[in-house]
Amino acid sequence: MDYSREPESMQSRLFDSTLASVGCTSSEDKEQILVAYEGEWRNLLSKLRSDLKLRRAQDDTSYDKMHQRMKMMHNSSIVGEKIVKVARNYVKERLTDAVREATSQMPPNVLDDENLLYRLLEWDDEVNRWTKARRHMEGSWQFVLIPSAVPNAFVSEILPHRIFITTSLFETFIESQDELALVLGHEISHLILGHSSARNGLETSFRTLEILMLSLDPTEGLLSLGVMAVLASIRSAIGALHSRDNERCADELGIRLTAMACYDTRAASQVFYKMHKFNVESGRDVGVGLGGLFDSHPPSEERFIYLLKESDEENPAKYEETNCSSLKTIFFDALKSGDGKERR
Ligand SMILES: [Zn+2]
Repeated sequence: MDYSREPESMQSRLFDSTLASVGCTSSEDKEQILVAYEGEWRNLLSKLRSDLKLRRAQDDTSYDKMHQRMKMMHNSSIVGEKIVKVARNYVKERLTDAVREATSQMPPNVLDDENLLYRLLEWDDEVNRWTKARRHMEGSWQFVLIPSAVPNAFVSEILPHRIFITTSLFETFIESQDELALVLGHEISHLILGHSSARNGLETSFRTLEILMLSLDPTEGLLSLGVMAVLASIRSAIGALHSRDNERCADELGIRLTAMACYDTRAASQVFYKMHKFNVESGRDVGVGLGGLFDSHPPSEERFIYLLKESDEENPAKYEETNCSSLKTIFFDALKSGDGKERR
């Protein structure tokens, strides 16, 4: 790709570099990328469905592969949308709490002076923190499915409002929407908790370097892949800065968001056991250095046990009165009215 001849926006360069970080570099692979927009992904699916019908009619050999990717996109969109929605509400509520707390400490003359009030609120650490989180969450999101042999899912500050998921994540680990919800909940939690902000500056420098490598390489990616591997390992060292504490906090908020989105957190926590087992059996750290899911320390048995225990507390029953009630109430009422004995 020659950037000097074909000027592209920084965003699309960053996008290319993000794809390269999971080994998606060939134009053939890039053509397979699916992007679904929050609230509008059903349009994409119906387009894919009609394309699929055509392939089946033609007995096209690509039918099975396409069908698999369509199912992955379907699950990514449903789960992604729900997790984003609860995360958005969660952040909004925390910001409201922080503002309420801050203003409760202020004398009446400050509360009467709007300019002064806003300035003081800006200086408040908690208000500041949740305002940033709110900026990260607000806006329309995209769910990007990347064909890749590297199992990963990630959210990046440098390409905001996107959830990236690789096909291999589904093939290797994800067996249910519950499991996907917990993985995405964890990733969004890092964003909400501001863990990636600290690394953002360095991350951007590395990406810029990678873009440079990709654009300089005359063999269209072959040589630069080696350079990228070196860069990836450096990035993994930065990733190690993600402390154990950060991981624990992201696990804690991640499982809460999963429960708030009404997914079965007990069943979901199994995905962390599978990742741990995979790591142990393969004797390597999957995806280390690629950012996202495995970027800090490998998924451990300890994390799985913590999540399983936490699922006793954080599960859909806890949010029955708020998030998870509506459908249940509708079905319950429908069942009740269908039963003659129950009706008066
Ligand atoms: Zn993490």
